[in-house]
Formats: sequence, C-alpha cells, structure tokens
Amino acid sequence: MEKIAVFPGSFDPFTLGHESIVRRGLQIFDKIIVAIGTNTDKADYFPLETRLGWIRKVFAGEPRIEVASYNSLTVDFCKKAGARFLLRGLRTAADFEYERAIAQVNHAMEKDLEVVFLLTLPEHTFINSTLVREVIKYGGDASKFVPAAIDLKEAEK
Ligand code: ADP
Repeated sequence: MEKIAVFPGSFDPFTLGHESIVRRGLQIFDKIIVAIGTNTDKADYFPLETRLGWIRKVFAGEPRIEVASYNSLTVDFCKKAGARFLLRGLRTAADFEYERAIAQVNHAMEKDLEVVFLLTLPEHTFINSTLVREVIKYGGDASKFVPAAIDLKEAEK
C-alpha cells in the first residue's frame, strides 16, 4: 500500500525549515501532500494562491510531492486524500507540547492516522515563518530563510 503523508501548515511563508522536513520525509513516504490549512484563526500575511505557487515552484519536477489547500479538519482532509500519515517538524520543547496536544486530538478522532515527527536540523531550528514576516515588515532581507525558488518580492506589501 502506498505510504502517503500530509504535511499540513500555514506556510506563511514556506521556509528552508519546511523544505528540509519535506525532502527528508521523501525518504520515508512514497508521496507527500504539502497542504495549507485555511481554517485556522491565523490571519494570512501572504495570499493563499501566492503561498501555493511558491511551494509548487520549490518542488517543481518532484512527482512525489503534491501541493493543496483545505478548509476542513486536517483528519478529514487526510482521509479524502487517502493519507494514513501526518508529517510534522519539531524545533523546540514548546513545539513538542503544542504538537503533542494536536497529535493526540487527531489520533482520538482518527485511529488509523499516525503522526510522524522529524526533528529539525540544527541549522534550521531558529527559522520560523513569524520571524521571516517580521524581517520583511521592517524592510530586511529574508531571502536567506526561504528556498531559492521563492521570490518574496513577488508579493511585496
Ligand atoms: P502551523 O500553522 O501548523 O504551525 P507552520 O507553517 O508554522 O504551520 O509549520 C508547519 C510545520 O512545519 C510544523 O510541524 C512546524 O513544526 C514545522 N516547522 C516550522 N518551522 C520549521 C523549521 N524551521 N524546521 C523544521 N520544521 C519546521
């Protein structure tokens, strides 16, 4: 049976840390769906279509990666997509506490769904989307925190 994982997030924007988790995940899974959830309380910084386009560009030529968005419970999206695995990255102890709660709620809702965590590479531990947005807001150069295929200026506010 094909091992399909969903890597869910806001990816606002998609960073080097996210890319690394996906590429490492390809060693474990046959297919990974990078999926932007739109049902959270988080207000978007970059428009959904821009974020989707960026992620598609990063993985262009990689047939085992799909990029999608969803507006439902993550567990329901996984079911529809035929994915039995959720992929998440862990940076810090704070991530762990947050992720544990979400993973346990998801598992309680859908017993067949397993959550797989990958520890962030040390050089990516400090990278997060909030920091990237802050750098951009104050006119800094955030390009070193995102994959080379992403041109942040494309969506300058
Ligand atoms: P969410 O809104 O679900 O927190 P994010 O886009 O912030 O979405 O993150 C999606 C996933 O990527 C989460 O599992 C998060 O832990 C992971 N992640 C975020 N930044 C990094 C990073 N620098 N290195 C590895 N994983 C990361």
